Amino acid sequence: MDCIFCKIINKEIPSNIVYEDEEILAFKDIAPQAPIHIVVIPKKHIGKITQIQKEDEALIGKIYSVINQIAKEQGIAEEGFRVIINCGENGGQEVKHIHFHLLGGTKLSGKIV
Ligand code: 5GP
Ligand code: ZN
Repeated sequence: MDCIFCKIINKEIPSNIVYEDEEILAFKDIAPQAPIHIVVIPKKHIGKITQIQKEDEALIGKIYSVINQIAKEQGIAEEGFRVIINCGENGGQEVKHIHFHLLGGTKLSGKIV
């Protein structure tokens, strides 16, 4: 499959990994939008939010636990951070493998909700 994040999972493309287990990978974004910008992904190829299956519920839940752990390790848990998932064309999703942006290390602007 021609998926850049699957290639990162398979170590065909190098990345700066900050967390890895059998189900989840987290690595530094190549074009950071904040002092800390980490991409968290399931190793299972799920295209986008609308392709999440019932069987993925535990995995998606676990991603938030991992984000929690990474935020603490990166020292941004106390002052706060933002988690963003872009979905589809209007959501601005460019990579078609579901991913959670973890952004922090500064006061983030551009609050839209
Ligand atoms: P999207 O716009 O799809 O929500 O986010 C995709 C993110 O993946 C972008 O922030 C982009 O910088 C990041 N990205 C794309 N290709 C690579 C890559 O090869 N390595 C890393 N580390 N990040 C990437
Ligand atoms: Zn993929």
